[in-house]
Amino acid sequence: MKKVVILTGAGISAESGIKTFRDSDGLWEEYRVEDVATYDAYLRNPKLVLDFYNARRREVFKAKPNEGHRQLVRLEEKYDVQIITQNIDNLHEQAGSSHVLHLHGELTKARSDRDDNLIVEIGDKEIHLGDKAPDGAQLRPHIVWFGEAVPNIEPAAKMCEDADYFVVIGTSMNVYPAAGLIHYVPRTSPCWLVDPKAVPISRAINIVQEKAGTGVKKVVDELLQMGK
Ligand code: NAD
Repeated sequence: MKKVVILTGAGISAESGIKTFRDSDGLWEEYRVEDVATYDAYLRNPKLVLDFYNARRREVFKAKPNEGHRQLVRLEEKYDVQIITQNIDNLHEQAGSSHVLHLHGELTKARSDRDDNLIVEIGDKEIHLGDKAPDGAQLRPHIVWFGEAVPNIEPAAKMCEDADYFVVIGTSMNVYPAAGLIHYVPRTSPCWLVDPKAVPISRAINIVQEKAGTGVKKVVDELLQMGK
């Protein structure tokens, strides 16, 4: 089976009611990244940071996958499909996608403040000061904050090297190293971009300038047609 690798960002979840970061009604309009999404912020004001992610978790648990997430599942009929998402929600999994790699962590998990490898499932539960990991350390969100290492970038780069087709959906390509993944995709592998805005990408790419809710279906139909 040929491999389709898909890189998604906040835009694919926008039509599920989850705010993106950089659009005019996005989260950065309400919060400063330095106050809620860095380790320094967490050291300075852990309650504010925990509350910020508790609110994100509540938002995600009210949300349902949209047509963009659902269309990607159809691709599995004909292709070996790997999703690499920058999103911390679980809407790809809820829609039924089988292989999802989270680059920036997951809201449904927490980890020890002392040991990055001690990860626990929390589902929709909140994290509060005083909540402890099994090693006795404070629980923190299992999120890659700005300035922190991205442990899944190496497996993601390997997946991109093996891609026969590559699709980018709903990301402003502003956040590195995720935005650099496209450069691992072989030059001979066709690429698509689905985003209602113009996103600067320095390689040949088929552009579908639409929201995920309508644009993803067009790419999926084309890929399924090619797979015949
Ligand atoms: P971003 O906010 O920088 O960019 C969002 C992109 O989505 C923009 O290019 C915008 O034009 C596009 N977009 C908006 N509505 C869309 C729609 N309906 N369909 C398709 N595209 C649409 O987001 P980013 O590039 O993902 O980077 C921000 C960081 O914040 C990432 O780490 C991201 O995962 C994280 N984040 C995650 C969530 C989530 O888990 N759902 C939400 C907000 C931010």
